[in-house]
Amino acid sequence: MQEELKQIETEALAELKTVGDLSDLESLRIKYFGRKGLLSTVMRGMGKLSKAERPVIGKLANEVRTSLTEAFNGVERTLNQQAREGQLAAEAVDITLPGRLPRLGKKHPVTQTFDRIQEIFRGMGFQVAEGPEVEHEYYNFDALNTPAEHPARDAHDTFYITDSLLLRTHTSPVQIRYMEKQRPPIRIIVPGRVYRCDSDASHTPMFHQVEGLLVAEQVTFSELKGVLYAFVQQMFGEGTRTRFRPHFFPFTEPSAEVDISCTTCHGGGCRLCSGTGWLEILGAGSVHPNVFRYVDYDPEQFTGFAFGMGVDRIATLKYGIPDLRLMFDNDMRFAQQF
Ligand SMILES: [Zn+2]
Repeated sequence: MQEELKQIETEALAELKTVGDLSDLESLRIKYFGRKGLLSTVMRGMGKLSKAERPVIGKLANEVRTSLTEAFNGVERTLNQQAREGQLAAEAVDITLPGRLPRLGKKHPVTQTFDRIQEIFRGMGFQVAEGPEVEHEYYNFDALNTPAEHPARDAHDTFYITDSLLLRTHTSPVQIRYMEKQRPPIRIIVPGRVYRCDSDASHTPMFHQVEGLLVAEQVTFSELKGVLYAFVQQMFGEGTRTRFRPHFFPFTEPSAEVDISCTTCHGGGCRLCSGTGWLEILGAGSVHPNVFRYVDYDPEQFTGFAFGMGVDRIATLKYGIPDLRLMFDNDMRFAQQF
């Protein structure tokens, strides 16, 4: 039995040297230390030994068990270390490589233009107001002095949802909604989307407007000119000239269309301005007394002015964009140029 134990020890140590990984080691551990392993089998035979032999063999068996356990543990430590080093090498990171920069988004030219317009008018004391895009006919037309059968309605190419509900064709209905709730003095701008059934190089079915409204006592048309002149200087640059042409809108009287000197040729005449040297950018006028009557303002006491501009058109002029539809194609190559 003594020899048997010695032989087990020698064989086990020899086999340990051939172990290549942790699972090999585990198989070997079962082979020797398992419940049916070689060592256990020998130990079970101890019952048949004489009283004199038992302590001698018992001591030897313990020594063999201890030395083998240590040898197994040693191999396990080495294998674990190798595995760890292998993992570290495989997962090594080269910290000298430059990082990948996240692609930064940019604001759409329409948003940039909106932001700039709001910034300019806030600087002149205007507050921002908003209203619904699905609107009652009453707010979109009637209360803006454009009753049914009024010829001005035809020009709007309106998207109707029901007989009396529509997609607003301009931001002007917000004037009425705001005046119904507030008494003068009023100084607001209204940015928002509007809709008209129209599509070509200079028209899209959805576009953006900014509306302005100022109401107080003794507001004059010359103040309207002053505010818009200040806006144009800041939006298109010092020295940009303005021109007011008489026009008709149902909700203002007198009304005007406002031109600026061409942003490309500065008045000399080019393709953008069709050779005239001027570009139309907005419509404006003194608030019609009938509009005040709809919101219970006394037209004898209050006067005011309103103006409206197409944000997309201003963006195309400011950035020299040839086709309005480019704004809504969502082509990143386009958006990234601004
Ligand atoms: Zn021009």
